[in-house]
Amino acid sequence: MKLAVFSTKPYDKRYIEAARTASPLNIEVVYHEFPLEEDTVILAQGADAICVFVNDSLKAPVVQALAREGVKAILLRCAGFNHVDLVAAEKAGIMVANVPSYSPEAVAEFAVALIQTLNRNTHRAYNRAREGNFALNGLMGRTLFGKTVGIIGTGKIGIATARIMKGFGCKVVAFDPFVSKAFEGIGEYKGLDEVLAESDVISLHCPLMDSTRQIINEEALAKMKPGALLINTSRGGLVDTKAVIRALKTQHLGGVALDVYEGEGSLFYDDHSGEIIHDDVLMRLMTFHNAIVTGHQAFFTEEALKEIAECTLRNAGEFMNTGTCTNSLTKDLRLTRVESLPVRGV
Ligand code: NAD
Repeated sequence: MKLAVFSTKPYDKRYIEAARTASPLNIEVVYHEFPLEEDTVILAQGADAICVFVNDSLKAPVVQALAREGVKAILLRCAGFNHVDLVAAEKAGIMVANVPSYSPEAVAEFAVALIQTLNRNTHRAYNRAREGNFALNGLMGRTLFGKTVGIIGTGKIGIATARIMKGFGCKVVAFDPFVSKAFEGIGEYKGLDEVLAESDVISLHCPLMDSTRQIINEEALAKMKPGALLINTSRGGLVDTKAVIRALKTQHLGGVALDVYEGEGSLFYDDHSGEIIHDDVLMRLMTFHNAIVTGHQAFFTEEALKEIAECTLRNAGEFMNTGTCTNSLTKDLRLTRVESLPVRGV
């Protein structure tokens, strides 16, 4: 199998190469630093499968172009698949598989790091101390013990976050249209409005779908407790950033920490220091002392990268051998062209 990897960073290559070397599969891997988009699809020429990340474009025209290049599988190096037109992939006869779980704790621990940073102003203290300023004015936080943390989405990451916050001595409440037994042992399910109204911290852990797009909008922000903190490590599109800016200006929102941002595609994962950044919304957001933005790094641990690489190759191997894959997101796909795959190794 020939696999073309897009949006490759040095760390991606290191972990994929380690997994490939350790694997009995005969997979030839070509690495491209370019993201996948309409202009770069040509780089997939000759590949049986491609491997992409969160900000690669997999809209219908790209998927159709991939099919014309002979690509039979799209292997996501992530769990989220909101950036993939799955219907177009099914129609084009391309299987799409993700890495459904690669250390939910990595993301949960980062969400908790953001809660702690925002609440105790350690981002400001760090800068102050480096300038020889050890004054405490403006750094006061609140003790989290006994506070209420609201989790929106009690899947793998939401539950891992809830478990940690329970360990802090917080009361944990959650909203999810699908009840999880695992969460019921940690906290209490409530309606979305109640979770918004009761929580001192809201942490988002639901996927981005039509039904969750801008789930945190002007209305939702108004329902939140005055002074509450908002954390998003899920997907940028869950939050209306302009509404967040307005809520920070009125001081109704106590602070916000975003690891993901709706316009992140053209910025995140690259160094833009020394450039003029034209995203005025993001730039305005970052002027607030109580707004923290990180570049979609919650997943970024050694353990997660290892699992992402190994699972991606397992997905490739399973697809080579069976024509589908346990982690396929295109379950109904009847792969008519699987016979043409060069199956070597297991
Ligand atoms: P998951 O599929 O295990 O859980 C998602 C949960 O959201 C499910 O329980 C689902 O029922 C729930 N949900 C669906 N619609 C909802 C709604 N309208 N309101 C509330 N909950 C709803 O997913 P996960 O592994 O826990 O990941 C959660 C999200 O985290 C992913 O979708 C991805 O976008 C994001 N993520 C971010 C990073 C990062 O580095 N920042 C890394 C991995 C995943």
